[in-house]
Amino acid sequence: MEKINLKGLLLPELQQVMLDSGEKKFRAQQVYSWIYKSGLTSFDQMTDLPVGSRSHFSEIFRISSLKEVFRAESMDGTTKFLWELEDGNKIESVLIPDDKRLTACVSSQVGCALGCTFCATGKMGLTRNLSAGEIYDQVLQMNQWALAKRGQSITNIVFMGMGEPMMNLDNVVKSVKLISDATGVAISQRRITISTAGVAHKIKELADLGLNAKLAVSLHSAVSAKRNTIMPINKGTDLAELVKAIQYYTRSTGQRVTYEYVLFNQFNDNPEDAEALVKICRMAPSKVNIILFNPVAGAEFQRVTNDRLNHFVQYLADRHITVMVRQSRGQDIDAACGQLATKKQKAESAIQ
Ligand code: SAH
Ligand code: SF4
Repeated sequence: MEKINLKGLLLPELQQVMLDSGEKKFRAQQVYSWIYKSGLTSFDQMTDLPVGSRSHFSEIFRISSLKEVFRAESMDGTTKFLWELEDGNKIESVLIPDDKRLTACVSSQVGCALGCTFCATGKMGLTRNLSAGEIYDQVLQMNQWALAKRGQSITNIVFMGMGEPMMNLDNVVKSVKLISDATGVAISQRRITISTAGVAHKIKELADLGLNAKLAVSLHSAVSAKRNTIMPINKGTDLAELVKAIQYYTRSTGQRVTYEYVLFNQFNDNPEDAEALVKICRMAPSKVNIILFNPVAGAEFQRVTNDRLNHFVQYLADRHITVMVRQSRGQDIDAACGQLATKKQKAESAIQ
């Protein structure tokens, strides 16, 4: 019989599994704490369990764990982790220190099916969804590393690593519950941001779940015909439908949405692009995060010039749109936005 993997189970699920295996329900809380707070993967070390239960659990349960295969630290302190999953697939996560904050950028899928033309993950295609346990483990292991190496815990989570969270919403939501639970890394939902390329019906579904997590939408162009050429998802869900879903989200949650906007030189940085963006921003409570393009192999864009960046930002600010320019972090180790892809590492390890 295959052992049941406990990592990824919420407390009520763990309680049920305990009861089904003839154990007492209250053991679940003890095991839950060892898994999600202490990060144990072996029942032998669970010292508050009777020795009999420890060996019983070892026979019928297991606790999966990501294997760190590579870690790189940028000049700016940003640290990238490459993990191997149990089936041999690889994913990446990034830790970004910034003042008092320590943000963990986590992956939700191996690759991504949405194929945005400017994104390294998009070029990989989709291999599979991550489980809630695999998502949680990125946070848990990076948190333990950060505590040991920097004396600091993770303060914020962004689902901006590999993958499209909305295409794996059930597991993403489950991982948000695990991450924000009082037992574990205990990071409040208000400090967790889910970023999406704009899967409209899933944005509505998320709104109905009553979480407190924040929503970011990768817009990159407010001109539908232009957006079509860089984000294939826009052909299926036009901008009007996306805006309706966002309005539904902001109304039901009382939160505003953040629009992510990567500026590509002489593509989406003209006055008419800024004007279209302002119009969309006025349709729902929102703010804009400008991201600078990080070059990836095979993408035909260039980073915006300082002059054009300043004009674009000023245009928005003059019209009372809240706008921030996000500093690009970890570029020297290919850890910046949109640069996560594991093909290269796979090829390298195949050679070794
Ligand atoms: N799939 C989700 C989350 C992962 S991508 C999404 O698309 O929102 C996280 C952010 O990085 C998105 O805003 C994405 O558009 C942006 N991004 C992708 N490629 C990039 C690149 N080459 N340079 C800068 N940002 C990029
Ligand atoms: Fe997928 Fe987001 Fe990259 Fe688009 S930008 S390919 S949705 S990960």
